[in-house]
Amino acid sequence: MADLQIENLAKAFKGGFTALNGVSLDVADREAVFLLGPSGAGKTTTLRLVAGLEDATAGRIMIGGRDVTRWTPRERNLAMVYDKHSLFPHLTIYENLAYPLRIRKMSDADIRRQIASVAETLQIEKLLERRPNQLSGGQQQRVAIGRALVRDADVFLLDEPISHLDAQLRARMRVEFKRLQRDFRATMLYVSHDQLEAMTMADRIVLINKGRIEQIAAPQELFDRPATLFAATFIGEPPMNVMQAVISESNGCRFLRIGEAYIEVDKDWMQDGEALRPGDKYLLGLRPQHLSLCPADSTHACRVNGTIFAVETLGSRVVFDIDVEGTVIRAMSTIDAALKYPRTIGAPISFRIDPDFVYLFDADRGRTVR
Ligand code: ATP
Repeated sequence: MADLQIENLAKAFKGGFTALNGVSLDVADREAVFLLGPSGAGKTTTLRLVAGLEDATAGRIMIGGRDVTRWTPRERNLAMVYDKHSLFPHLTIYENLAYPLRIRKMSDADIRRQIASVAETLQIEKLLERRPNQLSGGQQQRVAIGRALVRDADVFLLDEPISHLDAQLRARMRVEFKRLQRDFRATMLYVSHDQLEAMTMADRIVLINKGRIEQIAAPQELFDRPATLFAATFIGEPPMNVMQAVISESNGCRFLRIGEAYIEVDKDWMQDGEALRPGDKYLLGLRPQHLSLCPADSTHACRVNGTIFAVETLGSRVVFDIDVEGTVIRAMSTIDAALKYPRTIGAPISFRIDPDFVYLFDADRGRTVR
């Protein structure tokens, strides 16, 4: 195994479209790093550049401390798994797994040993004599992963390898991948557009948007301390509520007003210690998980009153869409707590804001200021 470093990578396609612009990241030896972002963000392009399937317009790729930017794909010794498992239909599973080893002129005895070990880990020992069309989608995907694993690759590149599987199988594969990652201790760069996949499987996530990196962080840190408005709204389900907010002042105290609620703010609020001035405009972020429903007659200063716009039950959770002066705010509750509240459209309902869980973003650039 080896580490991977990407420095200032850029890619402009023919016709001038810049798909990547100054992307720098590193994957430590045996680390699983996920490239996460919306469609068209540049995730696959990054992976293809690392694999050597595209030439970089600028920047450098280092594997195990060696500059491989101009190397051919084969010289880079990487293993790649795609969403569509490209197994050879006419070969048995055993021969599919043996194929990359035969290319490397490994002896038959070594091939047998190597395949036996990988087949055991992936629990495909009983499938080795079958052909791909005699396997389920999940089994085929395991073989495709196995074919990458049998090789002693320096780095594994995975491009949405489980995205086409059904939800149940995807959930199983997520757990399986975690186990594989632990057993094989592989260096992995994994492309996904599914935040659940990245949040549950990654050591670190590289959040990418429009060819640039928004943030690199461990999954929980990305959720707790998003660096930008984009990161804050991309991670989290249901997404963070965002609304305009103006700082106001009364009796020497500064407040943020949300509906009829006032939240006192002080200089400790800002990351850089800068004061919030009356009249300053920000974007305010509230995660649905951090809002708690409360009776309409409670006297809490951070209570916001609204009316029910819609109610959605998602298994053990209930999401209330609450209309606050024309803006819909989503609040999430457990199913038990939700029983105490009305569900009729238009009925009055209130929720409480915990000042410790209020995010503020610079209204112009979308940088997190708190
Ligand atoms: P998805 O999740 O949809 O696969 P992605 O983040 O992997 O998206 P890329 O496939 O890396 O996105 O594409 C990034 C951008 O580069 C897109 O706007 C895409 O249209 C463009 N692009 C990709 N390949 C080419 C190409 N060969 N020529 C021109 N533009 C391209």
